Amino acid sequence: MANIIDGKLIAKEIREKVALDVEAFKAKGVEPRLAVVLVGNDPASVWYAKSKKKAAEKVGILYDFYELSSETEQEEVEILVDRLNQDENVHGIMIELPLPAQLDKDKIMGMVDPLKDVDGVNPINRGYILQGSEGLFPATPESCIECVLSTGIDMTGKKAVIVGRGETVGKPLVFMLLKYNPTITVCHSRTKNLAEEVKSADVVIAAVGRAGLITGDMIKEGAIVVDAGVNEVEGGGYVGDVDYESAEKVASHISPVPGGVGSLTTVLLFRNLIKGMGLQGK
Ligand code: NAP
Repeated sequence: MANIIDGKLIAKEIREKVALDVEAFKAKGVEPRLAVVLVGNDPASVWYAKSKKKAAEKVGILYDFYELSSETEQEEVEILVDRLNQDENVHGIMIELPLPAQLDKDKIMGMVDPLKDVDGVNPINRGYILQGSEGLFPATPESCIECVLSTGIDMTGKKAVIVGRGETVGKPLVFMLLKYNPTITVCHSRTKNLAEEVKSADVVIAAVGRAGLITGDMIKEGAIVVDAGVNEVEGGGYVGDVDYESAEKVASHISPVPGGVGSLTTVLLFRNLIKGMGLQGK
């Protein structure tokens, strides 16, 4: 039976460090402040935005929530982002996704000040990932990496297989993971033999959005399995991309859904806020 990668425990450790950093800024007279912009009323986004508020308050971060109607026009969002960029008292900005269809998502993401870009969506921060230089990087791939690192594995020379090449998780993860020196294979919907690719991996990271795509028989004995997938199930709740029951019999470590990758993302946004404040010279 695999060891469980406990996302809540990893989050707790990071949260304690963030809370200390928040205190240190406050002692200097700077109150860390995060602005979250939500356009429309997508239920999952409303829930995430509200849960972030509670979590921010817990670590002493001020949280401004901008709720705009689903009919909001591009210009209004741009004016708001511009204002938040200019505001010296706002240190981090997060635009909740998805945005309504009338809005130009790429333009809005590109407008967020790269030093306040807590979810690493600005193309400048994406470029820093490729360059291997300092920047603010997206929380979910960062969370996958924290889950792997929590096992104590040295990834150097190990084979990592990332399943999914989406803009949010898989694609940035490839370049973020490279820093740890594994040999990486990226699988996607056109991959010829997914089972064979996954079977060769010492580390498997799933980021697809398909319940039960990866089953225990596809996993190498002793592999580390991290599941970023989130799939709603009939009757409520959600599961990952990995069939947990069969996979945990083979893996050495496995992250559950819920309780794994998703438990870490909010606190990693806060860690980015603190990092961004350092880059802003606060
Ligand atoms: P996405 O943009 O929709 O990308 C999905 C990827 O999966 C694509 O690269 C797609 O391949 C690949 N794929 C689809 N069917 C496949 C198959 N049968 N075999 C292999 N690959 C397949 O997704 P995303 O936004 O990156 O998100 C990925 C997952 O992470 C979702 O479940 C999402 O809900 C979850 N997520 C979790 C968190 C969290 O906090 N835990 C945060 C964000 C996202 P193609 O490129 O060929 O189409």
